[in-house]
Amino acid sequence: MSSVSENLTQIRTQLPQEVTLVAVSKTYAVEVVREAYNAGQRIFGENRVQELVPKHEALPKDIEWHLIGHLQSNKVKYIAPFVSMIHSVDSLKLLQEIDKEAAKNGRIISVLLQFHIATEETKFGLSMDEARELLSSEALKQMSHVQIEGVMGMATFSENTELVRSEFKNLKAIFELLKSEFFSESDAFKHISMGMSGDYRIAIEEGSTMVRIGSSIFGSRN
Ligand SMILES: *Cc1c(COP(=O)(O)O)cnc(C)c1O
Repeated sequence: MSSVSENLTQIRTQLPQEVTLVAVSKTYAVEVVREAYNAGQRIFGENRVQELVPKHEALPKDIEWHLIGHLQSNKVKYIAPFVSMIHSVDSLKLLQEIDKEAAKNGRIISVLLQFHIATEETKFGLSMDEARELLSSEALKQMSHVQIEGVMGMATFSENTELVRSEFKNLKAIFELLKSEFFSESDAFKHISMGMSGDYRIAIEEGSTMVRIGSSIFGSRN
């Protein structure tokens, strides 16, 4: 079995320079995350608030923590003091809560809008109509402590690479549409978070700027 640092090196050599690697450390112990940290990794992703908070406490403070999983409004307050980016914004209500808690902490929190691109029913995310409604809302104009920096999506978990590719193409098209309709003046709106261990190569071919990779770095989860 290869080590965490060998896996990281292996993946980094495959990523174009402009693609950001989020090392997804969910379910892995703090000591394992520290190995990746010692190998130079500074951006980590977690999908649960209950796991993110203790890891933030236990690990070095120059880590940028990304919340990548579904987030309930009542849990935003626990991560607002330190989280760098929230990939999983899928409602106006959640965005308002993030804005409110960021303001309390004197921070501006970077967020991505999560889109439902997979054929599976269970994946969270906005539709294009819902996103347009959110982005045109009066409520959004009142928010000054969130910065919308792009989109995120998860493809269907499938061996069918053409299906996965078409879903990534769809997310890229959504990004381009939103960029031209709502963010043509914003340099910050630049991220397409797509691609995991099983499909990041396809995601990069389809324009990903940020890949979220867990098991290929840390080993398979039980
Ligand atoms: C777990 C997870 C990942 C990483 O999955 P791997 O297959 O381990 O690379 C990426 N994104 C999200 C939202 C996840 O929950």
